[in-house]
Amino acid sequence: MDDHHHDRNFDALVIGGGIAGLQAALDLGDQGFTVAVIERDASVGGKMIRLSKVFPTLDCASCITTPKMAAAAHHDRITLFTYCDLKSLQRQNGRVHAKVVQRPRYVNADKCIGCRQCEYACPVMVPDPEQGGFSATKAIAIPFSNAIPQVAVLDPRHCMLCGRCERACPTGAVDYFQQPQPFSLTAGTAVVTTGFEMTAIADKPQYGFGKVPNLIDALQMERLLAPHGPYNRVLRPSDGKAPDSIAYIQCAGSRDKSMGLPYCSRVCCMYAIKQAMLLSGALPLADITIYYMDIRAFGKGYEQFFQNAQAMGINFVKAKVAAVEAGPDGAVRLHYEAQDGEGVTTADHDLAVLSLGLVPAWDPSGICPLTTGADRFIHTPRPKLGPVQTGLAGIFVAGAAAGPKDIVDTIAEAGNAAMAAGQYLTAMSPSAASRAAVA
Ligand SMILES: Cc1cc2nc3c(=O)[nH]c(=O)nc-3n(C[C@H](O)[C@H](O)[C@H](O)COP(=O)(O)OP(=O)(O)OC[C@H]3O[C@@H](n4cnc5c(N)ncnc54)[C@H](O)[C@@H]3O)c2cc1C
Repeated sequence: MDDHHHDRNFDALVIGGGIAGLQAALDLGDQGFTVAVIERDASVGGKMIRLSKVFPTLDCASCITTPKMAAAAHHDRITLFTYCDLKSLQRQNGRVHAKVVQRPRYVNADKCIGCRQCEYACPVMVPDPEQGGFSATKAIAIPFSNAIPQVAVLDPRHCMLCGRCERACPTGAVDYFQQPQPFSLTAGTAVVTTGFEMTAIADKPQYGFGKVPNLIDALQMERLLAPHGPYNRVLRPSDGKAPDSIAYIQCAGSRDKSMGLPYCSRVCCMYAIKQAMLLSGALPLADITIYYMDIRAFGKGYEQFFQNAQAMGINFVKAKVAAVEAGPDGAVRLHYEAQDGEGVTTADHDLAVLSLGLVPAWDPSGICPLTTGADRFIHTPRPKLGPVQTGLAGIFVAGAAAGPKDIVDTIAEAGNAAMAAGQYLTAMSPSAASRAAVA
């Protein structure tokens, strides 16, 4: 692993260091190819490292993601470029050329030893985005406990330039004058694994997100449920009360033509059911209700998972929630139309979770000639027989970059993309293939 800024040649570029990118990089590296992973966050791991447990097996997400992150970081043939912006990705003369800018961490990555002395010395407390904003971090900090690389990042929006971190650093790594560093990478092939973001639900004011105090989104609930979460237990954010009744609002920003998001995001039913099961373990006396349009339990073992949730006493109400507002005593008031013909009903819950849909995290326009579909995810012209092929020769796609996907499908696609990229390299560049064969 390194963060140097030279022009470098690799066999393959992987754009995005989430679970899809890590798997594709590991599979290519294990085939003997050299791989550069370009990640825009300060750590690899993507969304999966931020989850609590994962359906349908309820494995601890960080226990199964951290080894992949570490394996990529320590792999002889994989180089991680984190905290980097991809400025251009073009094919020229049979090679893929990437222009990248290393954003300043204001900490020299080669000198930082991850000791956190800067973090302890910093007097500025800021909301921690890695904990859903529920707890605080410092203006200079390692992003989260198992981040890779373990290098601190200074946030210039909050830094007071008091100098304490610089004085506390035992290796002289803090550098207030660090500048963005442009560099170039070239390779024979590229795999795009840029993943997803959650729907911008503030665009739908009826849901009151950001205004109703105890209305959170599903990624925030992942943090509340995580063993190393902000409170170490599930409390509602406004007053620290253990919630007695929790609601899930399904299809919030999915299957919603009014938001230009007509598609199903595929994972929201399952993650809501998973979280409800975890909540019933954490808060055995709480009532948990999932307001849903249809339950889509499409994968292996998923229907059984849904039935287990029903058997555990989780309530499923077939209804479309139309509006959300603040109720009395910190309650969240839902207005919904139940499909049993009862008309519009209201219900108050101590805490409510928006099961947000998935939208693409990256728009290639102006950066790369990749095309996107009507849903704005990367277009795959042969979705059945070539699901990892894009319209561009030698550039492949995997995971949620091509459309909403669970981890099982993401891993399968990443392996497929690595195999396709390896075959492409072998066909186009026998020298890369023979180097890989002897590696
Ligand atoms: C609340 C919630 C709970 C979930 N729970 C489960 C579960 O229990 N089980 C399950 O199977 N699935 C679950 N999922 C789905 C799971 O998160 C996805 O399947 C998985 O994260 C997809 O991995 P990915 O690598 O394709 O994308 P991501 O995890 O989004 O990773 C993409 C990476 O690419 C980086 N990136 C983006 N753009 C760029 C760029 N331009 N340049 C460089 N890097 C870039 C991002 O920073 C990120 O690190 C859940 C999803 C949500 C929202």
